Amino acid sequence: MDPGPLVDALRPLGAAETARYARQVMLPEFGVVGQERLAAARVLVVGAGGLGSVTATYLAAAGVGTIGIVDDDVVDLSNLHRQVIHSQRDLGRAKVDSAVDRLAQVNPHVVVVRHRERLTAANARGVIAAYDLVVDGADNFATRYVVGDACALEGRPHVWGSILRFDGQASVWWPPHGPCYRCVFPAPPPSGSVLSCADAGVLGSLCATIGAACATEAIKVITGMGRTLVGRLLVHDALVQTYADLPLRRNPACALCGPRATVREPGQGVLEACAAPVVDPARRVSVGELAELVASGSVTLVDVREPAEWREGTIAGARGIPLGELAGAEVPSGPVVVFCAGGMRSQRALAVLDRRGIAARDLDGGIVAWRAAGQSVEMPA
Ligand SMILES: [Zn+2]
Repeated sequence: MDPGPLVDALRPLGAAETARYARQVMLPEFGVVGQERLAAARVLVVGAGGLGSVTATYLAAAGVGTIGIVDDDVVDLSNLHRQVIHSQRDLGRAKVDSAVDRLAQVNPHVVVVRHRERLTAANARGVIAAYDLVVDGADNFATRYVVGDACALEGRPHVWGSILRFDGQASVWWPPHGPCYRCVFPAPPPSGSVLSCADAGVLGSLCATIGAACATEAIKVITGMGRTLVGRLLVHDALVQTYADLPLRRNPACALCGPRATVREPGQGVLEACAAPVVDPARRVSVGELAELVASGSVTLVDVREPAEWREGTIAGARGIPLGELAGAEVPSGPVVVFCAGGMRSQRALAVLDRRGIAARDLDGGIVAWRAAGQSVEMPA
């Protein structure tokens, strides 16, 4: 299944490199030629977040010659428990700038290229074509499909990791040697049915587990060592500390890599389903309006945050139904207003309720705006 080394060696190592990499060059499977292949390799890391922090750091330390970093975000305080390439003094900086500075400190032999942008249907193929291999640590389905599609269309191996709460997955998508991402995940889940790390949380150290697995797979693909995750899905549960690997097959009807493929552009046919639902502004309730509704007792409040968040306080009378359970939960009748922390999950909640035929509105700015306006919260019953 594995096709052999991806990258040819271009130049002999210098004396400083030979000393730096001595402990991995001594591995017989790796050797001097493995190190020379890494030095010639060009790897694109998509996302300087939890996974990308770890993957990019280990690839730089290992001596991958050129590393591109794609990210359009800035460093936020809530990133630092898992995005270890950034530090306290980087708060507010572009993640690509912070990541490039750190990688330059890790290994001066590595050329780091910054791409301060989001990969889209328009730019993804052009960016990816300049690299030998792509590591995808994206945190959203739209980017995952764009990256997966662009890799398959450009013939690049696609090392992929995914994390949420205590669960991690990894694989290497690489048709025709194995399945592509769409062979296994032909369509994104319905918008609002799957939570993000921002909504559901993630254990920081899990990023290291899966990010390191991605770095290892990239090194194996480049050098031709061992047996890669091409055609296999690594499934890790950090809470019980188990690792499983499931065999994966190519889908003969795959729209991207099958014999009757129809996908010609990255993200074709799936991006619309990935987009966050856009809510009619008329369906958003301001803090002031909601305070009046609560005072008059003429509204049913649903808190779609997680139980650990309700326990920190919620709006008086609110019933807690986490977003992930909303599709099947009993929702009281009457005029409903849903809310979450900042107003993202509540928008998805409206889409879930729309599909159930329940007309609802949501609190603009969530409980953060509610508290900021001086409104009180109380402990749930
Ligand atoms: Zn496929």
